[in-house]
Amino acid sequence: MRTAIYPGSFDPFTNGHLDVVQRATRLFDRVIVAVAKSESKHPLFTSEERLTLVHEAIRGMPNVEADTFDGLLVEYVQRQSAQAVLRGLRAISDFEFEFQMALMNRKLNENFETIFMMPKDTYTFLSSRIVKEIARLGGDVSPFVPPHVRTALAAQLATEKT
Ligand code: ADP
Repeated sequence: MRTAIYPGSFDPFTNGHLDVVQRATRLFDRVIVAVAKSESKHPLFTSEERLTLVHEAIRGMPNVEADTFDGLLVEYVQRQSAQAVLRGLRAISDFEFEFQMALMNRKLNENFETIFMMPKDTYTFLSSRIVKEIARLGGDVSPFVPPHVRTALAAQLATEKT
């Protein structure tokens, strides 16, 4: 049983994240989308809301699960007996941070590999941050996120305004 953990804030989950998950299911028996609580990043959605949005997005994908985690990623990976951590690489700008994280995680625990996946080219410019910005400014985010995420964004931003 080969398990991969896909950690992130997923604030919110986008079609770019989904693309990475779909690619990973071809390589692993089990993929766990692990929603980091990330409270210090002041996310738009709570970790429970982000988890619900991921659950809905992966519905019908038999070997994909979703979970939340707090604390060190390396400890979570060990608890799940996973062999790999997945990260997405969109552009050179992602590389420096991801490289540092991957090597630091290897220092903390040598028993798993970090695997980088490149999304479909149309998603290389996509990030949760930019999706939130477009939604806040009233733009149409439907090409970038699953329909239920678009609905949740509209609802969440409406409460922010009141
Ligand atoms: P972070 O963990 O930095 O908060 P995110 O939750 O936004 O980042 O994303 C989790 C992982 O998914 C990161 O490795 C990030 O590079 C990757 N990712 C985000 N958006 C995309 C995308 N459009 N295509 C491919 N990978 C992506």
